[in-house]
Amino acid sequence: MAPNDSIVVLNAGSSSIKFSLYSGAGLELTLRGKIENLYSGVTHFCAEDAQETVIGECRWSDAPLDHQAAMRFLLEFADSHLDGHRVVAVGHRIVHGGVDYSGPQRLDASVLAALEQLIPLAPLHLPHNLAPVRAMMAMAPDLPQIGCFDTAFHVGQPAAAQAFALPARISELGVRRYGFHGLSYEYIAQRLPQADPALAQARVVAAHLGNGASMCAMHAGRSVASTMGFTAVDGLPMGTRCGAIDPGVVLYLIEELGMDVAAVQKMLYQESGLLGVSGISSDMRTLEQSSDPRASAAIALMVYRISRELGSLAAALGGLEALVFSGGIGENSASLRAAVCQQAGWLGVQLDAEANATVGHGMRRISRASSRVAVWVVPANEELMIAQHTLDLLEPA
Ligand code: ADP
Repeated sequence: MAPNDSIVVLNAGSSSIKFSLYSGAGLELTLRGKIENLYSGVTHFCAEDAQETVIGECRWSDAPLDHQAAMRFLLEFADSHLDGHRVVAVGHRIVHGGVDYSGPQRLDASVLAALEQLIPLAPLHLPHNLAPVRAMMAMAPDLPQIGCFDTAFHVGQPAAAQAFALPARISELGVRRYGFHGLSYEYIAQRLPQADPALAQARVVAAHLGNGASMCAMHAGRSVASTMGFTAVDGLPMGTRCGAIDPGVVLYLIEELGMDVAAVQKMLYQESGLLGVSGISSDMRTLEQSSDPRASAAIALMVYRISRELGSLAAALGGLEALVFSGGIGENSASLRAAVCQQAGWLGVQLDAEANATVGHGMRRISRASSRVAVWVVPANEELMIAQHTLDLLEPA
């Protein structure tokens, strides 16, 4: 990569597209932004440079944009703001790679066709991830595009961690646990040994706690088990997703309450979790500032579930040397971290209250020197992981 060569990273969700530009061999972040509220509300675009100075902002108050219009706008914006940067590749975050894609993949028409076959496994996310790939392929057919999968990091988990106790004929259809947030965990696995070389071989549980939330057990940097399963609705309670529930509840909703598939899906994905329990908000900041007992009950349930999953994942690892917090909640909520660490005392976790309460931006250790389990905060950076994978595929070592 020449100094002005750049990699664009795209993370296209159901109602937003986040983008970043990384330049030169050192993958310096030069620009990033997002376009949100696609399809409903007022679509809003904002971009900032590496110094976090806003360099572009736009609102569409007449009618919201769809993905295609958003991509067209982003390309025009990029064209006029690239300042001599030459885009050499686009890296995409793609939620599902099925059983076949265990690493980043150059995207061409045949890979795209194979990925479209996986849409039934992730109908809410995969079509949105793939739409910009198709749009770019049509607009710039020679520009390399690389897919990085949220499932890939978990592909090597032991068979028992991936299995449901369902009839074999159902498992053979691909109904098994995949796990998600893999790019975030892969980044954490890469960063931990840089901070403390002793952690390279360690048994680690990482908690990625954002609007979506999950936990992953890693041994020597490899995924061993995770809380998300067949879909990203399993495991922990999240902003609006319920996390693990008894499948009998779904049968009850259908049989006794007469709900159809769309209504059940909407409830489990959009009306549950912190929002459902509190009846107030899906946003941890709002709940932490509220004096309403339902807000504290929602937070307490999240802490309880994280604590139980921590025990389960530590059991899958046969021990624990480090616990990592990441994602918007994990990085910023000192009180949630304190509550989880308090519950995890039995595992040998001793929090350094002062380090935990200190507001910081980078990676930092927040456990006492005497703690048997080291506790770290590692800011999530899935985008950099995607840029690195893209560069590695462009210029193999
Ligand atoms: P996404 O999964 O959409 O990328 P984020 O990782 O940005 O989401 O996490 C969003 C969550 O982080 C929200 O619940 C938000 O309230 C929470 N959060 C962000 N900042 C803070 C803070 N200072 N204190 C507590 N929670 C925070």
